[in-house]
Amino acid sequence: MIIGAGHAGLAMSRCLTERSIDHVVLERGEVAHSWRTERWDSLHLLTPNWQSRLPGYDYQGDDPDGYRALPEVIDFIAEYAKAIAAPVRTHTTVTSVRPTESGYLVRTDQGDWRCRTLVLASGACNIAGVPAFAERVPRTVAQLTAQQYRNPSQLADGGVMVVGASSSGTQIAHEIHRSGRPVVLSVGEHIRAPRLYRGKDLEWWMDAAGVLDERYDQVDDIKRARRVPSLQLAGTPDRSTLDLNALTAIGVKIVGRLSGITENGKTQFAGSLRNMCALSDLKMGRLLDLIDEWARANGLYDPGEQPQRLPPTRVEDAPPLGMDLAAGAIKTIIWATGYRPDYSWLEVPVLGRKGMIRHDGGVVAVPGMYLMGAVFLRRRKSTLIDGAGDDARDLSAHLASYLDGGLARLTA
Ligand SMILES: Cc1cc2nc3c(=O)[nH]c(=O)nc-3n(C[C@H](O)[C@H](O)[C@H](O)COP(=O)(O)OP(=O)(O)OC[C@H]3O[C@@H](n4cnc5c(N)ncnc54)[C@H](O)[C@@H]3O)c2cc1C
Repeated sequence: MIIGAGHAGLAMSRCLTERSIDHVVLERGEVAHSWRTERWDSLHLLTPNWQSRLPGYDYQGDDPDGYRALPEVIDFIAEYAKAIAAPVRTHTTVTSVRPTESGYLVRTDQGDWRCRTLVLASGACNIAGVPAFAERVPRTVAQLTAQQYRNPSQLADGGVMVVGASSSGTQIAHEIHRSGRPVVLSVGEHIRAPRLYRGKDLEWWMDAAGVLDERYDQVDDIKRARRVPSLQLAGTPDRSTLDLNALTAIGVKIVGRLSGITENGKTQFAGSLRNMCALSDLKMGRLLDLIDEWARANGLYDPGEQPQRLPPTRVEDAPPLGMDLAAGAIKTIIWATGYRPDYSWLEVPVLGRKGMIRHDGGVVAVPGMYLMGAVFLRRRKSTLIDGAGDDARDLSAHLASYLDGGLARLTA
């Protein structure tokens, strides 16, 4: 039984079919439901077309370096489900999963199922994270999450504060600014990245240099690695870099991390904006150094070429440390403060603190249960469409061995 017909559940379905393992995929909506219902209209993938490789399904179009628009992402995943003849039951919501003597009892709004093994592929981004102090936002200010935001026409005229400066926050801030509304962007930890480096897409370099293949059991601190925010990248036709410098250049005002809101609606911005940006510049420099090193070792380093390093992030001398939300300048707050999974229906004791599943590279801490699609599940790329194939191949091999009663062991 696979729960979830996003690309991760479908990649696993394909691998189980290859092994002649009978299975079914339960999906509460249509295939690619989260792309249909939880993303903003203008979203383009931040990964280039060539990089959306799924088992048995590579990019065949004539624009490998382009970035799919949202309707194209939905079509791509729906077409994949058809191409692999995935046994999907749509409009079937799993309401509970309980252990039985021989496996699991899966209750849905369309009846009960029993299975020996279960793959949780229900998504890592089901719930938008919003800090508890959001309840102190004055009623005169509307609030939306990045999941609820669709386009600027949804918003009242007037100023908008976007909280969070990773890929979702920077793209949304950019679009809203272009709609003519003044935008304040609150910046916490973020990872700055150039779209192009030495003439190629940054994702190409990270893929070629093996950065995306780094394994969960090779990094020093996997807990920390799983909390690292998404790269500040956007997929635009001109392949431009959308970093804080690009946003301040068009008039977006950047402020520090939103650390609290007082009873009377005054925001508190952390004083660490300059440090936060310097740290992000430093991390970007380290990534590009690593890429240079790999390029040198592999004959792709052209010493005559300009290094193409971006200038440091510009931060004003004394960015504001607070703002009165009741004063009327800000009409809407958009929380782009991350996402988390929803396992409220999982009645199996595998959830750790903070509601995350306890697992070892996708092998959950109870027999016959597997996880797909989680951040850095088995590799740095696990969270990307491109990462599902390798994870599904590894975990389907483990699952097959478990069903055979053999010694289930994961190979690299
Ligand atoms: C804003 C945003 C932009 C992203 N951009 C990129 C990108 O550019 N490139 C890239 O490679 N990745 C990107 N990702 C990451 C990743 O590819 C997506 O999050 C992707 O949707 C995850 O796929 P998934 O199959 O793991 O989960 P999902 O696509 O979320 O699929 C899970 C499925 O499970 C179903 N489900 C959940 N609960 C139940 C239940 N109880 N019963 C039945 N069904 C259930 C859901 O309806 C859903 O269809 C992005 C993510 C976000 C949030």
